[in-house]
Amino acid sequence: MGQLDEAGFAAAIAGCAGCGGTGFEITTYIDRQVSVMLGDPNDDGRWTYDGEKLIDGVSRITCLGCRRVGFSSDACPRCHAPGGLALAAAPSRLAVPPRCPACRGTELTVIGMAPAMVRTTAGTRPPPPTPSALLGDDGFHVMAMACDDCEWATVTDPCPLCGAPAPLRERP
Ligand SMILES: [Zn+2]
Ligand SMILES: [Zn+2]
Ligand SMILES: [Zn+2]
Repeated sequence: MGQLDEAGFAAAIAGCAGCGGTGFEITTYIDRQVSVMLGDPNDDGRWTYDGEKLIDGVSRITCLGCRRVGFSSDACPRCHAPGGLALAAAPSRLAVPPRCPACRGTELTVIGMAPAMVRTTAGTRPPPPTPSALLGDDGFHVMAMACDDCEWATVTDPCPLCGAPAPLRERP
Protein backbone atom coordinates (compact mmCIF):
# COMPACT_ATOMS: atom_id res chain seq x y z
CA MET A 1 0.00 0.00 0.00
CA GLY A 2 0.91 3.62 -0.17
CA GLN A 3 2.17 3.61 -3.75
CA LEU A 4 0.85 6.07 -6.29
CA ASP A 5 -1.48 5.31 -9.15
CA GLU A 6 -1.81 7.62 -12.13
CA ALA A 7 -4.52 9.76 -10.51
CA GLY A 8 -2.60 10.05 -7.24
CA PHE A 9 0.54 11.04 -9.13
CA ALA A 10 -1.28 13.69 -11.15
CA ALA A 11 -2.73 15.13 -7.95
CA ALA A 12 0.65 15.12 -6.21
CA ILE A 13 2.35 17.16 -8.97
CA ALA A 14 -0.60 19.50 -9.66
CA GLY A 15 0.51 21.99 -7.02
CA CYS A 16 2.34 22.07 -3.71
CA ALA A 17 0.05 22.20 -0.66
CA GLY A 18 2.68 24.28 1.12
CA CYS A 19 3.68 27.05 -1.32
CA GLY A 20 1.50 26.46 -4.38
CA GLY A 21 4.57 25.76 -6.51
CA THR A 22 4.33 23.49 -9.53
CA GLY A 23 7.92 22.28 -9.78
CA PHE A 24 8.75 18.92 -8.20
CA GLU A 25 11.64 16.56 -7.76
CA ILE A 26 10.49 12.96 -8.21
CA THR A 27 12.48 10.00 -6.91
CA THR A 28 11.67 6.72 -8.63
CA TYR A 29 13.00 3.32 -9.74
CA ILE A 30 12.86 2.49 -13.43
CA ASP A 31 14.07 0.01 -16.04
CA ARG A 32 17.44 0.49 -17.68
CA GLN A 33 19.10 -1.66 -20.34
CA VAL A 34 22.88 -2.00 -20.48
CA SER A 35 25.16 -3.82 -22.93
CA VAL A 36 27.97 -5.66 -21.15
CA MET A 37 31.22 -7.07 -22.52
CA LEU A 38 33.31 -9.42 -20.36
CA GLY A 39 31.34 -8.29 -17.31
CA ASP A 40 31.92 -4.57 -17.85
CA PRO A 41 29.25 -2.17 -19.14
CA ASN A 42 29.93 -0.77 -22.62
CA ASP A 43 28.23 2.48 -21.68
CA ASP A 44 25.81 3.96 -19.13
CA GLY A 45 22.87 2.21 -20.79
CA ARG A 46 19.49 3.57 -21.76
CA TRP A 47 16.06 3.87 -20.17
CA THR A 48 13.42 1.33 -21.20
CA TYR A 49 10.56 2.25 -18.84
CA ASP A 50 7.18 3.69 -19.75
CA GLY A 51 5.20 6.36 -17.91
CA GLU A 52 3.19 3.87 -15.87
CA LYS A 53 6.33 2.18 -14.57
CA LEU A 54 7.84 5.54 -13.66
CA ILE A 55 4.76 6.33 -11.57
CA ASP A 56 4.68 2.83 -10.07
CA GLY A 57 8.28 3.21 -8.86
CA VAL A 58 7.89 6.63 -7.20
CA SER A 59 9.09 6.73 -3.60
CA ARG A 60 9.21 10.50 -3.00
CA ILE A 61 7.91 13.76 -4.43
CA THR A 62 9.48 16.97 -3.13
CA CYS A 63 8.46 20.55 -3.94
CA LEU A 64 11.33 22.46 -5.58
CA GLY A 65 10.03 25.71 -4.09
CA CYS A 66 9.74 24.95 -0.38
CA ARG A 67 11.10 21.36 -0.14
CA ARG A 68 7.78 20.15 1.25
CA VAL A 69 7.51 16.38 0.75
CA GLY A 70 4.14 15.79 -0.92
CA PHE A 71 4.50 12.02 -1.11
CA SER A 72 6.88 9.53 0.37
CA SER A 73 6.89 5.77 0.82
CA ASP A 74 9.43 3.40 2.33
CA ALA A 75 7.94 0.42 0.51
CA CYS A 76 9.93 -1.49 -2.10
CA PRO A 77 9.39 0.30 -5.44
CA ARG A 78 9.12 -3.06 -7.26
CA CYS A 79 7.15 -5.41 -4.98
CA HIS A 80 5.80 -2.86 -2.48
CA ALA A 81 7.02 -4.84 0.56
CA PRO A 82 7.00 -2.48 3.59
CA GLY A 83 10.47 -1.09 4.35
CA GLY A 84 11.84 -2.48 1.08
CA LEU A 85 13.18 0.85 -0.18
CA ALA A 86 16.06 0.82 2.34
CA LEU A 87 17.01 -2.72 1.26
CA ALA A 88 17.24 -1.54 -2.34
CA ALA A 89 20.31 0.57 -1.45
CA ALA A 90 22.33 -2.69 -1.38
CA PRO A 91 24.45 -4.09 -4.25
CA SER A 92 22.66 -6.05 -7.00
CA ARG A 93 21.65 -9.52 -5.87
CA LEU A 94 22.27 -10.94 -9.30
CA ALA A 95 25.85 -10.56 -10.54
CA VAL A 96 26.74 -10.33 -14.22
CA PRO A 97 29.13 -13.13 -15.25
CA PRO A 98 32.10 -12.19 -17.45
CA ARG A 99 31.01 -14.73 -20.08
CA CYS A 100 27.80 -16.45 -21.12
CA PRO A 101 27.58 -19.66 -19.03
CA ALA A 102 26.23 -21.56 -22.06
CA CYS A 103 28.36 -20.50 -25.06
CA ARG A 104 31.21 -18.52 -23.44
CA GLY A 105 30.16 -15.50 -25.48
CA THR A 106 31.49 -12.19 -24.22
CA GLU A 107 28.47 -9.94 -24.77
CA LEU A 108 25.35 -9.90 -22.59
CA THR A 109 22.36 -7.59 -22.48
CA VAL A 110 21.32 -6.67 -18.95
CA ILE A 111 17.95 -5.27 -17.90
CA GLY A 112 18.05 -3.69 -14.49
CA MET A 113 16.21 -1.25 -12.27
CA ALA A 114 18.00 2.00 -11.52
CA PRO A 115 17.14 4.63 -8.94
CA ALA A 116 16.41 7.88 -10.75
CA MET A 117 15.50 11.50 -10.24
CA VAL A 118 13.37 13.67 -12.50
CA ARG A 119 12.26 17.28 -12.16
CA THR A 120 8.84 18.21 -13.45
CA THR A 121 7.08 21.52 -13.92
CA ALA A 122 3.36 21.70 -14.60
CA GLY A 123 2.59 22.26 -18.26
CA THR A 124 6.03 21.33 -19.57
CA ARG A 125 7.41 18.07 -20.86
CA PRO A 126 9.72 16.60 -18.20
CA PRO A 127 13.38 16.03 -19.15
CA PRO A 128 14.76 12.46 -19.12
CA PRO A 129 15.37 11.15 -15.58
CA THR A 130 18.91 11.14 -14.22
CA PRO A 131 20.07 7.75 -12.92
CA SER A 132 21.54 7.92 -9.41
CA ALA A 133 23.21 4.50 -9.75
CA LEU A 134 24.53 2.66 -12.80
CA LEU A 135 25.29 -1.03 -13.35
CA GLY A 136 27.89 -2.03 -10.76
CA ASP A 137 26.86 0.68 -8.28
CA ASP A 138 24.96 -0.06 -5.07
CA GLY A 139 21.27 0.51 -5.75
CA PHE A 140 21.31 -0.69 -9.38
CA HIS A 141 19.68 -4.10 -9.51
CA VAL A 142 19.93 -6.63 -12.32
CA MET A 143 16.48 -8.06 -13.17
CA ALA A 144 17.33 -10.12 -16.22
CA MET A 145 20.16 -10.80 -18.63
CA ALA A 146 20.48 -12.52 -21.97
CA CYS A 147 23.36 -13.65 -24.18
CA ASP A 148 23.73 -11.75 -27.44
CA ASP A 149 25.02 -14.88 -29.20
CA CYS A 150 22.85 -17.79 -27.98
CA GLU A 151 19.49 -18.45 -26.32
CA TRP A 152 20.81 -18.28 -22.75
CA ALA A 153 18.86 -15.94 -20.47
CA THR A 154 18.07 -15.64 -16.78
CA VAL A 155 15.64 -13.65 -14.65
CA THR A 156 15.73 -12.90 -10.91
CA ASP A 157 13.23 -14.99 -8.98
CA PRO A 158 12.92 -13.05 -5.70
CA CYS A 159 12.35 -9.30 -5.85
CA PRO A 160 15.50 -7.81 -7.47
CA LEU A 161 15.33 -4.73 -5.25
CA CYS A 162 14.59 -6.00 -1.74
CA GLY A 163 14.91 -9.80 -1.99
CA ALA A 164 11.29 -10.53 -1.00
CA PRO A 165 10.30 -14.03 -2.15
CA ALA A 166 8.41 -14.72 -5.40
CA PRO A 167 5.77 -14.43 -6.71
CA LEU A 168 6.13 -10.72 -7.40
CA ARG A 169 3.20 -8.46 -8.05
CA GLU A 170 2.61 -7.54 -11.66
CA ARG A 171 3.81 -4.10 -12.66
CA PRO A 172 1.45 -1.83 -14.56
ZN1 LIG B 1 6.19 24.02 -2.00
ZN1 LIG C 1 10.85 -5.76 -3.34
ZN1 LIG D 1 25.55 -17.54 -25.01
